[in-house]
Amino acid sequence: MGGPEIERLIQLFAKVPGLGPRSARRAVLKLLQYPEARMLPLAQAMAAAARAVKHCALCGNLDSVNPCAICADPKRDHTMICVVETVADLWALERSGVHPGLYHVLGGTLSALGGTGPDDLNIRPLLARVQPGDVQEIILALSATVDGAATSHFLTDRLAASGVHVTRVAQGVPIGGALDVLDDGTLATALRARR
Ligand SMILES: [Zn+2]
Repeated sequence: MGGPEIERLIQLFAKVPGLGPRSARRAVLKLLQYPEARMLPLAQAMAAAARAVKHCALCGNLDSVNPCAICADPKRDHTMICVVETVADLWALERSGVHPGLYHVLGGTLSALGGTGPDDLNIRPLLARVQPGDVQEIILALSATVDGAATSHFLTDRLAASGVHVTRVAQGVPIGGALDVLDDGTLATALRARR
């Protein structure tokens, strides 16, 4: 069905997170009905994004510029850094508009079982960002799991010497990868209720 070009497209679509073979087939079929209006713009946008994407050397965000637009924005509060596990968490917090400061993406949590140690995460660059003394508050917004809590403890320990104020978002909020599904009110409450 559909020839090799279309089969290949369906196979690639099926690898998109959230899509399986069935929904990939349905999406491709839908797009094929509007090759000029929908498919070519999508293909061009994907190629452009793939060429443009960069990791921010400061915070680990994904953007088309490095440093990212958040790190480069002079209107943001550069004395506050919110530490998150993933870029998805950063984007979710950013959409909610509750955090006026900067971010730092760890890339996960420490995990004894999973064999993830401090050097596997973006921790050293975080400590380096705090060094110059401009940062006054680090907000830890990590998941409310055993690993998330262990990571928060570890970071609080390592940051103690810097004299920076370390806070955590309210406990019991299922963040970390799941930030995405929280509504803005919950996020705002969690961030304001930090301690
Ligand atoms: Zn950045």
